[in-house]
Amino acid sequence: THFGFETVAENLKQGKVAEVFSSVASSYDTMNDLMSLGIHRLWKDHFVRSLDPGINPILFSAPTSSPSTSSPAASSPSTPQGLNILDIAGGTGDVAFRMLDYASRIHNDSTTRVTVADINPEMLAAGRKRAASSPYSRANRLSFVEANAETLTTVPSSSVDLYTVAFGIRNFTNIPKALDEAYRVLKPGGVFACLEFSKVNNEAFNWAYKRWSFSAIPIIGQLVAGDRDSYQYLVESIERFPDQATFARMIQNAGFELPAKVGELGGGYEDLSGGIACIHKGVKP
Ligand code: SAM
Repeated sequence: THFGFETVAENLKQGKVAEVFSSVASSYDTMNDLMSLGIHRLWKDHFVRSLDPGINPILFSAPTSSPSTSSPAASSPSTPQGLNILDIAGGTGDVAFRMLDYASRIHNDSTTRVTVADINPEMLAAGRKRAASSPYSRANRLSFVEANAETLTTVPSSSVDLYTVAFGIRNFTNIPKALDEAYRVLKPGGVFACLEFSKVNNEAFNWAYKRWSFSAIPIIGQLVAGDRDSYQYLVESIERFPDQATFARMIQNAGFELPAKVGELGGGYEDLSGGIACIHKGVKP
C-alpha cells in the first residue's frame, strides 16, 4: 500500500504515523463513531469511571486503601491540589474532557488538571478548538502539548499522578521505551492506565469482527474521510498489537505492579466487548 503497511511494526517510522494522523485529524471524531458504531464512547466512559479521577478536597487528607481501586491522588498525599494527569496520545482530548467532567461532577473537584500530549500538531489543533468553548482551558485545567511518548523530555520525573493512554500505544514505534517513560514520570503510587484495541476471545465473534474491520473500515474511511490507506493502517496496527497477557507482561517489565483486580478479572487487565478493546493498569511501586 501507499504506506508500506506490510512491513513489520518496527519499520513503521514515526513520520508515517504522523502522516496517518495528520490525514485523519479533521474527520477523526466522526470516524471513531462510525467505525465502532459509537461504542468507543462507552469504552471511554467505562475507562474513566474505572479510574475514578479527581479528589474531593474535603476527603483528600483521609488515607485510602489501594491505589488500583481508588483515585490515584489518594496515594499521593503530597499533591497540593487536585491531580496532575497526563493523557498521552490524547489527540483531540476525548478522554481528557471525560476525566475533567468526571472529577468536577463526581468529586466536586475543580483543581485536577490534564495535560494532553500528542505527537501530532493537527490532532492537538482539533483538541484546542474543542477546548476553546469549554471552561477548562480558561481555568488552566486543560493544556495541549506536542510531545513524543517515547521521550517526554519536558515532563519531570515523579511528577504525574495518573498517566492515561487511549488508543494510542499501538502506534508507538518503541512501546517498551514509552512504558519506561511512563514509569519515570509517574509518582510512586501513581497509576498507568491504557485503553487499547486487543484480541477478541471468542472464535466465531473474532471471525465476524475481522471481516468487519478488514473490509468495512477501510471502505468507510474512503467514503467519509476520502482516505482508505490511513484507515487500512489503523486496522492493521490493531492486528499487530500484542495480546492481553503479553502486554500485561510488558507493563510489568517496565517496573509496574499489576493490580490484583481490574474490572472482573485479575492479571492487570479488563476485556471490553469480548476483547475488542481492553483496559490495562499498572501501579508504580
Ligand atoms: N486518545 C485519543 C482518543 O482516544 O480519542 C486519540 C487516539 S488516536 C487513535 C492516536 C493518537 O496517538 C494520535 O493522535 C497520534 O498522533 C498519537 N500518537 C501516535 N504516536 C505517538 C507518539 N509516539 N507519541 C505521542 N502521540 C502519538
